[in-house]
Amino acid sequence: MSDTSLRLVWVYPDLLSTYGDQGNALVVERRARQRGVPVTRIDVRSDQPIPTSGDIYLLGGGEDRPQRLAAERLRRDGGLNRAVANGAIVFSVCAGYQILGTEFVNDLGRPEPGLGILDVRSIRNEGARHVGDILGDIDPRLGLPPLSGFENHQGNTVIGPGAQPFAHLRYGNGNGTGDGTEGAWCDTVFGTYAHGPVMARNPQIADMLLKLALDVHALPPVDEQWYDALRAERIAAASEPA
Ligand code: GLN
Repeated sequence: MSDTSLRLVWVYPDLLSTYGDQGNALVVERRARQRGVPVTRIDVRSDQPIPTSGDIYLLGGGEDRPQRLAAERLRRDGGLNRAVANGAIVFSVCAGYQILGTEFVNDLGRPEPGLGILDVRSIRNEGARHVGDILGDIDPRLGLPPLSGFENHQGNTVIGPGAQPFAHLRYGNGNGTGDGTEGAWCDTVFGTYAHGPVMARNPQIADMLLKLALDVHALPPVDEQWYDALRAERIAAASEPA
């Protein structure tokens, strides 16, 4: 494998990989290769150190206990924080998103420190779990089509002044705070509640990460239609009454 290949790090597949979130790594990898960009994919289990030289780090969702274990290990390891300090790109989903924040409420009902990589804080919603398809408009500065995803979480997330909403929802709960926001982002760090997997439903998000990593404004188009069919089906499902 060449030294110049793109280094894609899939963080803790043994703890953080619910609802097919590993598909995000597959889609990013595939869309890079389709543009002739060599990729080294590094799957890092929770008993292994996080490499600090990755270009793109992906974190998925997880159940409450694995989420606490993952947060403990990532805090102790420190590699993800160092990678971000060096400019790495991070895209996180659900439990992964909560872990990147300053704090979340863990499976024991106690506040647990996050990594402080993204200025968000999560609490447990006392009401019903947020479950179902979501549809929203992504921050226009990111130049992406509407977000389609599937959410399933008990946490609600409040965005601090150091981050901004990733999307504003037309349908679904997202951050769950009643203001219609979904996910958060700052510079090269992104968090969302959207599973799906979100890159399969929104391949332009994978392309955005690749453009950031390669420092280019555009990528050659990819001639694949199945993403569109999946998007159309799920967007229709998002607007149907539950
Ligand atoms: N355990 C977290 C919550 O319920 C995240 C769940 C998930 O990743 N799907 O809020």
